Amino acid sequence: MSLAFISHHECQNHRMGAHHPETPERLHAIKDRLIASGMEMLVTHYDAPLATFEQLTRVHDPSYVRMIEKAAPKGEDELVWIDGDTAMCKGTLPAALRSAGAAVLAVDLVLGDKHHAAFCCVRPPGHHAERARAMGFCFFNNIAVGAAHALDAHGLKRVAILDFDVHHGNGTEDIFKGDERVLFCSSFQHPFYPGTGADCDAANVINLPLPKLTGGKELRTAVEERWLPRIDAFAPQLIMISAGFDGHLEDDMAQFNLRESDYAWVTRQARELAVKHAQERIVSCLEGGYELSALGRCVSTHVDELIGHG
Ligand SMILES: [Zn+2]
Repeated sequence: MSLAFISHHECQNHRMGAHHPETPERLHAIKDRLIASGMEMLVTHYDAPLATFEQLTRVHDPSYVRMIEKAAPKGEDELVWIDGDTAMCKGTLPAALRSAGAAVLAVDLVLGDKHHAAFCCVRPPGHHAERARAMGFCFFNNIAVGAAHALDAHGLKRVAILDFDVHHGNGTEDIFKGDERVLFCSSFQHPFYPGTGADCDAANVINLPLPKLTGGKELRTAVEERWLPRIDAFAPQLIMISAGFDGHLEDDMAQFNLRESDYAWVTRQARELAVKHAQERIVSCLEGGYELSALGRCVSTHVDELIGHG
């Protein structure tokens, strides 16, 4: 089975100003790299649907979803700042709904045995969005909307979420901490934005706060010791990945020193666990990654590992 590659052209209509790092060019860079590498031919393309109010409110407060729906400006060049670094333009709401809808479609395709794995090439990202709060470039928590769909609409009992973005997935933790159906694993630079994650005592959350200058060796050791045995014991029926590549050596959003081979390694670990426990089922959603060339290379490597090699 091929890999489902889910995106939508409306994800490129969300803009937060000329100097904002979370740009539409990120998706162009990924797609260019996939074409150049020949990987474009190996995936099946899908357009992301709009997430519904019902799907969003499995993880977000209804009043928060309505607030975001109403906040969008009407003017072409108008920006409404929802948080210090997170703004809405005219095109933001459709993009955010497509991003969350991509995760829902990905879950439907993978659980419907159409594909063993899916990658959601979407923006805005989602893992900082809490139950009732937009922040850190995120409006709706795409991975959480997808996980809740797998649990509530498909009846799964155990979903593991791996988040290797360089920032703590505070939104996903906020939504799922204490929910024993979800095992949430987040690795991140600490201390660093958003400042959370070092003191969570929920049994279903495994945070890996790591110091700046963390490289592949340190990350792999931490993942081998802290994540893999717990995920293995949890025996997830579906593995989801919050795939942020802003910990790359060349990405100056943070101070990790990860390389493509490290993202390949962690993706391979996830795939091996999915083969063992989850009928190979993996859904990955793009989160951060702001150095365009490195982002393209990292996603290409990540998708290659998701496709699997026997
Ligand atoms: Zn990030």
